[in-house]
Amino acid sequence: MQSPIVEFDSATDDKTEQQKTDLLGMDRQAMEAFFKSIGEKPFRAGQVMKWIHQFGISDFSEMTNLGKGLREKLSQVAQIRTPKIVAEQVSSDGTIKWLLEVDNQNSVETVYIPEKNRGTLCISSQVGCALECTFCSTGQQGFNRNLENWEIVAQMWVANKALGCKPKEERRITNIVFMGMGEPLLNVTHTFPTARILMDDFAYGLSKRRVTISTAGVVPAIDRIKQELDISLAISLHAPNNKLRDILVPINKKYPLEVLIPSLYRFVEGGNSKKHVTVEYVMIDKFNDRTEHAQQLVKLLADLPCKVNLIPFNPFPNTDYKRSSNNAIHRFRAILEQGGLNVTVRKTRGDDIDAACGQLAGKVSDRTKRTLHRVDFKAKQIKS
Ligand code: SAH
Repeated sequence: MQSPIVEFDSATDDKTEQQKTDLLGMDRQAMEAFFKSIGEKPFRAGQVMKWIHQFGISDFSEMTNLGKGLREKLSQVAQIRTPKIVAEQVSSDGTIKWLLEVDNQNSVETVYIPEKNRGTLCISSQVGCALECTFCSTGQQGFNRNLENWEIVAQMWVANKALGCKPKEERRITNIVFMGMGEPLLNVTHTFPTARILMDDFAYGLSKRRVTISTAGVVPAIDRIKQELDISLAISLHAPNNKLRDILVPINKKYPLEVLIPSLYRFVEGGNSKKHVTVEYVMIDKFNDRTEHAQQLVKLLADLPCKVNLIPFNPFPNTDYKRSSNNAIHRFRAILEQGGLNVTVRKTRGDDIDAACGQLAGKVSDRTKRTLHRVDFKAKQIKS
């Protein structure tokens, strides 16, 4: 995708903080355009990106391979704005959750999940979420706004710095998932450039297999990924038929399974033999965890190159849903495997600090008045 062409004012008189150009959220193309606009060579973009992203530097005076004149010029016209860390919580299993203030009224959450051979950072793309998925805590918070590039990149910047800004081979964050608060594919203007920064060798240099966008199923944007960005995709499926999915993931009414599933085939089409989609399926007691649901799922996904990830439901206040029993999860898994699907069960992490999947709440100043028209989940539960 072409980054929007931004006009920069190259006058070097001191600007107020608001007038200064923010560099944290610029991908390489935008950064090169910025340097050109202030009369500098484009290769400065890579140098500055390295300082910001690899060394965690936010003060131009510390960028020692830039001349003194350029450092001064940059501090007059640009800034590297970073969010305030409001809270840091560490779970007994090593999971860390940061609450970052993005404006006076709103904060978002970012979670680091260390595992034996990798470390995953789960980042947020919006303040709240507009999709109202009934099993998700963020969905119950309401929606305020999209996060901008710098606010999404800042989550990696903050976490990477907190974990010591190690050289790439030793870096603790090896994978990024857009599975925090918000729907990344309803904010492609800001999530796509962010993804490019995460994968840029002058920044974090993550491979496309290690950066995953997770979506509830915004079909036109799934097609845009294919055209504009080489990245991994996870689909929050959660139900094997439209009747159930309309309740759990209401955007299904707009893009039902017969529209969604073909878009997943289009996504993997033309890729190498490893190209696949991760299918996420939250396991809710006596709701979507029955034998017939597993059988329907096998049929639905029969020919799609995919890996199914079963996620035990994580409860949050005011929900009537319950986690499936271990037995139910194992039975469900066995049916999928007998049907030829590749299945993993996600281990719940960080639940003692409310950092598990779907528990991220942050602080959202709801502009959708969600609480006024909240649906009664019980009334909507269907017996099948
Ligand atoms: N909007 C995007 C990304 C945010 S949700 C999407 O829908 O994919 C990321 C994942 O969190 C979802 O796939 C879902 O599996 C998981 N999730 C949400 N609420 C959950 C809950 N209460 N328990 C377990 N997983 C949950």
